[in-house]
Amino acid sequence: MKKAVTAILSLFIMLVIALPCFADEGPGVILTADKTSVKAGETVKFTVSISDSINTKSGSIELSFPESFELVSAGWTLTGTTMANYDKSKNKGVFSFDSATFIGDEESGFVIFEFTLKAETVASTAKSVTASAQFKNGSIVVGESSATASVKIICATHSYGDFTRTKEPTCTEKGTETRTCSVCGHVDKKDIAALGHKFGDWSVTKEATETETGIREHTCSVCGKTETSEIPKLTPASSEPEPQSSEPEPQSSELVPQSSEPEPQSSEEPTSSDTTSSEPAPLPVNNDGLVTVLAIIAAVSLIYAIAVTVLLIVKMKK
Ligand SMILES: [Zn+2]
Ligand SMILES: [Zn+2]
Repeated sequence: MKKAVTAILSLFIMLVIALPCFADEGPGVILTADKTSVKAGETVKFTVSISDSINTKSGSIELSFPESFELVSAGWTLTGTTMANYDKSKNKGVFSFDSATFIGDEESGFVIFEFTLKAETVASTAKSVTASAQFKNGSIVVGESSATASVKIICATHSYGDFTRTKEPTCTEKGTETRTCSVCGHVDKKDIAALGHKFGDWSVTKEATETETGIREHTCSVCGKTETSEIPKLTPASSEPEPQSSEPEPQSSELVPQSSEPEPQSSEEPTSSDTTSSEPAPLPVNNDGLVTVLAIIAAVSLIYAIAVTVLLIVKMKK
């Protein structure tokens, strides 16, 4: 007996769990708006999609939205179908087809309907726009679903009050100031820069010596944060003349490479003289030879002249 009751109970529980699954079968409606808030006077575009196009041959759609919106346009996006027009006065439309081309896919949904609302009056709370649809195959209802999107109608120009401090800034963290529009309730927010620490004077906690570094600290008077820093080692006073006397040494050593520089310069001179004037260089050598040769010629010609003169005198005497 108990076993039979348990079996019936478990069957009942299974049915309760399974029933919503059967009820959810068929296409569901997906409603998306192109913005979540709209300025008064501007428009919002809505897209109605269905999650599944299987078995849908006809159906109807009904929109509901508050008076703060006005319907600008509405229409079916399915192609290759015969569609009944959307009735603006009833906010209702029907469609039917034998074979339609659905735009979209199983994941993002198949787009069936699009409509545009113009925001008329500013409201302090978000307004709900609902699309309800029924899908049929012949006379059988294969799906019934609705979806809602929330849109806030804000002022084109807000009427803000004064800024009020909503979060005080601290030494390290930013604060916040807000102001609210008295018409639509839009909240304008701005950051206030962190104040930074207000440290007092440094106090030495450990004096520096010639061999060890010291320690000093200061504390923020607002938040109590303490910072420590190192005091450098003290420098001995007698060590100063030494680096001064060591300075001339590198200077004198610098003179050595400087004095070595003229050497390559002097070696350059003969090479430059070889290229520019090759004549002056052999001149002193040739000059000496030329002088000797000229002297010899002069001497020879002098002797020859004397000899010719003597011979002429001898002939004339004869
Ligand atoms: Zn406003
Ligand atoms: Zn501080």
